[in-house]
Parts: sequence; C-alpha cells; structure tokens
Amino acid sequence: MSVKVLPEEVAAKIAAGEVIERPSSVLKELIENSLDAGAARVSVSAEKAGKALIRVNDDGAGMTPEDLRLSVMRHSTSKIVSFEDLDALDTYGFRGEALFSALAVSRLKITTCRAGDEAASFIEGDSGGLRAEGRAAPARGTTVEVRDLFFNVPARLKFLRSDTSERAHLIRVVEEAALANPGVSFSLEVDGAEIFSLKADAGPWESACLARARELLGGRVAAGLTALELRAGELSLRALFSLPDSLYATRQNQFFFVNRRPVSSKTLQQALYRGYDIMRGSKHPACAVYLDLPPAEVDVNIHPRKADVKFREEGAIFKFVSGAVNARLLKAQRASVALEPGAIPAPAAQPAGEQRAVFGTGIPPAKAADEASLTDDLFAAEPAPGASGPSWYQPPVNYLGQLAKSYLVFESGGGLLVVDQHAAQERILFERYMDELTAGTIRVQPLVIPLSVELSASQAENIMRWQDWLKGAGFEIGRSGPTHMLLHATPALFYFSQEAAQELFGYLSEVLGEPSRSDEALKRGTIATMACKKSVKARDFLKAQEAVRLIEDLKAAKDSFHCPHGRPTLFHIGRPELARRFQRTTVI
Ligand code: ADP
Ligand code: MG
Repeated sequence: MSVKVLPEEVAAKIAAGEVIERPSSVLKELIENSLDAGAARVSVSAEKAGKALIRVNDDGAGMTPEDLRLSVMRHSTSKIVSFEDLDALDTYGFRGEALFSALAVSRLKITTCRAGDEAASFIEGDSGGLRAEGRAAPARGTTVEVRDLFFNVPARLKFLRSDTSERAHLIRVVEEAALANPGVSFSLEVDGAEIFSLKADAGPWESACLARARELLGGRVAAGLTALELRAGELSLRALFSLPDSLYATRQNQFFFVNRRPVSSKTLQQALYRGYDIMRGSKHPACAVYLDLPPAEVDVNIHPRKADVKFREEGAIFKFVSGAVNARLLKAQRASVALEPGAIPAPAAQPAGEQRAVFGTGIPPAKAADEASLTDDLFAAEPAPGASGPSWYQPPVNYLGQLAKSYLVFESGGGLLVVDQHAAQERILFERYMDELTAGTIRVQPLVIPLSVELSASQAENIMRWQDWLKGAGFEIGRSGPTHMLLHATPALFYFSQEAAQELFGYLSEVLGEPSRSDEALKRGTIATMACKKSVKARDFLKAQEAVRLIEDLKAAKDSFHCPHGRPTLFHIGRPELARRFQRTTVI
C-alpha cells in the first residue's frame, strides 16, 4: 500500500469527530463561545434532539466580517497565540476547532454583528466549503445555526442514541452552563416548547446559584442544600451540597466545575463523598461544586472535549474539598438536628467552629498533626473540642429505658432524647477504630478457629492483593484453595460472625478492586464503616449501665449525630418544643 495524504475534507471530518461526538457536544462549544464573547444572554433552541437544528443566539461582542470568515478555519482562535498562554487561560475556548468542526459535519450558518455595526454579516457552508455570505439586519451579538448534524457522516448518525437520550444530553449541557454562570440569562427551547428560561442574577454567588439550583433541580432538592465558601491561598471553593438527610438514589444532580468549566473528576467526587463519611454506591448527595485555582495548577487539555481534569496536587485538592465539606456538614448538623425546622432552641448555641480533629473523620488528630495539609492549616486556629459537649447533651441526663430493644430513651435538659443504639454503637466503634488505625496501635484478636468464606476465584484473587494492607488494618487473611478465603484475625474492637465475615469478604472484593489508585484515607474509612456495621447487633437488650456508658461515649464522639453511613444516631426534643406541642404558653 502506498502512503497518501488525506484529502482536506476527509481529514476535517476525522478531526471533527474528536470535538463533536453528538449534538450536545456542538451545543457545549457554541455556548462556550457565547460566554467567551461576553454574552449576558444566551438563547438556545434545538429541533429533533439537535439532529435537525441547534441554534445558539447571544448578545455578546460579535465579530467583524473578516473574523467571521476566519473563525471557521482550522486552529483559528482569538483566545491564545502561544502555548504558554494556556497557563493563564481565562476563556473556555482555545483550540480554534469548534466552528471548523461544525462546518465539516453539518450545514452551518453564522450571523454576527458588533455594537455600532451598520449591518450584520453572515456566512453559510458545509464540508464542501463556504457556500454563501452576505449582510443582514443589525442586532448586536452572534447566532450560530447547526443544521442536519452528521448528514455527511452516516456512521456517526447511526451511533447517536435515541432522541430522548440525546435531548437529555442537550439539556444537561445548558444546565451546566447555567449553573456555572448565574450572571448570564439562559433559555432553552426544544421543538418549539420552552424547557426553561432563567433570569440573570448578578448577586452574591450563594443566592444566585441557589436560585439557579431551585429552577433547575427543583425546590425540594434546593431546600436540602447547604452552602460553603472557603479560600486557601489561590485555591477557592464554593459549593452547594445536600445535607446528610437529603440524599438521593442517583448521582444525576451532581455538578462539578473547575474554573467555571463543567468537569467530571474522580478526585472531586470522592472528596465530596469522603466529606459525608458515606460509602459510594448507597446514597448520593446533590451538589454544585465550584473550584477555582490558577490555570497552571490544572490540566484541562487532557481531553479534546475538555471533560476530565487533572490536578497538579491531587492529594491536596482531595483533602481541601473533603475537609471543607465535612466541617460544614458537622456544623450544619449541630444546628439542625430537630424533628422540624426551628424546633430546637440552641442552648449550647452553635459552636464557634469545629475542632480540627473532626475534619475528615477518616483523618483523625494524630495523623493531622504530622501531615500539615492545606485543610489542617485552615482549621488549626479554631478551638479545641468544647468541654460542654454536643448540644443534645444537657445535664442532668437520665436514662429512662429502652424501646423495641433498639432505641434508648433519656431525659436531657428536661427534654426527650432518643438514641438509636445500633447507630450510636457503630459511630463509637468507627471512631475508636480509626483512632487506633491512625496511631498504629491496632489491637488484633486472633480467631481460634479461622472463619472460612467461599468466593469466586477472581474475587479471592482480588482480595489477596490486599493482604498486606489489610494486615496493617488488623485483618489477617489467608487462602485455603482457589475459592476459599480464611479470616485468621480481626481488630479486637470487632466481633465477626461467620455471616459477617462472608459479607465483609464479598464487600471487599468489590470495593478494594483498584489497589493503587484509591486514597488511603478513603480506604480506611471504607473498611471501618463496613467492619462497624458487621460488628454491632441491632436488637439487643442493654442494661442501664450500658446505656449510660454508650451515651457518654457518644457524647465524646467527633460526630455524635450520625452513624458512619450517614444515618442519624439520635434526636432531641427540647423543652420549648415539648411546650409548643402541648400548646403551653410557657416553657417548663
Ligand atoms: P475557540 O473558541 O477555541 O477560539 P472556535 O472555533 O470555537 O474556537 O471559535 C473560533 C473563533 O470564533 C473564536 O476564537 C472567536 O473569536 C470567534 N467566535 C466564535 N463564536 C463566537 C461568538 N458567539 N461571538 C463572538 N465570537 C465568536
Ligand atoms: Mg470555542
């Protein structure tokens, strides 16, 4: 076979394939161009899930007729001139490939006009080149119309999903842009029907983003969000995310932005979950997380569609985010554990800050001390654990009895305190184990008769790769054949039944699948949550002394309000709330 240079048109289509995978990828590029042009309003319409038409109209700066012609050429961009410019990038675009690609795989028309121009200019064309150009009535801004996407690339067309699915992608793209740019108004129309129309809100980010979240995610989801804002040097984090009692079955409502760009980032996502002490795969928070950092600290260039990001300091970013989320959640919990909003007075008031030890429950004090991380520094100045204890603990605390062998009832501060003994025991065990793990003082309990568990050969193989790491965590495991695992010893804190061992191994084989990649703190948190769950029995009679012991231990916990899986451990109805319920005018 002889070597040939591809005809221009073929090369262009191939290159376009990298930028434009589906209708939503064109839409994303066009919206970004509008935002780069300083638009205050972006109006999007689509027909037939974007396959027939995608039109983006903005009121941005517009282009001169010369720039308009250049804009559809390959590598034509007004945004960077040298490679070094990438380190100071503050625009979405920089490759100069979007319009070029759109021209290669659709029938494209662009109409544009700058403020003060006497007329707008337009160009029209497709992969065969420009077919028409001319003038139109002046209206500041730019309209880009992409018709019949992939009409000349049938293979691509076949690859597209159902209209419903492609439409969902289109909507998601506008949602992302709208959440990242609350100062810009967005509207979206699909097949002539308005999907949404969002007013610009130039106010503070928190209220502006919340308003967007309310419109886009619905009032119920928005009502369950809390906000945080944190700066550390050049790093800035703003986030809206669900309170632990407002989690969802899917990850649908999670949005991450790095320097205003929607991204999918394992690091950010894991950091968020770490902040909750919950295991991935069970329940999911909704969130809009905005991380801003110097462009040189992040590589957005690793993917042509710029969907994934890589941080220069992955570990530091992880800690920064998980620590911030965790601290914020603990604060919110103290303020809000009540049956109804506003039901609880705040006798111990809101603590001024969180003790540094609480941040990232997976990274307790001893570790924090020798690991001067970003987040540690942030919280170091805040007060040590308050001697007064958590707000629900108001002496004298008297034990009243047990309900259904599961709940412990106390009088606390003249109010009613109900504790889920199982959740409380889990929380206490979890923190003890994490402390031992961190201090390297795990006490190990050898099993006289090892527990034997049967697994698939590949599962067993998977777990064996973790043998050394598990040993450090107090679990000694071995093998008695390709499909039989043995549990020889466990941390002394835990009690494992045969059944629990079976579950533990099954669980480990899934969760620990990727040895090298996962974060150490995350791994430890995961095994701790799992082990605690397996070690505590729900229905168990407790003697009064044991109940009192439990409540004292819980009081000392870093997060006494939730079990390691995020379930509440207790609720407290204070005296004012009791009085209110009985319609008393004075609080006894
Ligand atoms: P990039 O965004 O990477 O520069 P594009 O192919 O998306 O490349 O766009 C090429 C150029 O066309 C941009 O650099 C910009 O100057 C101009 N342009 C594109 N869309 C618009 C728009 N909506 N308003 C004003 N100028 C635009
Ligand atoms: Mg662009």
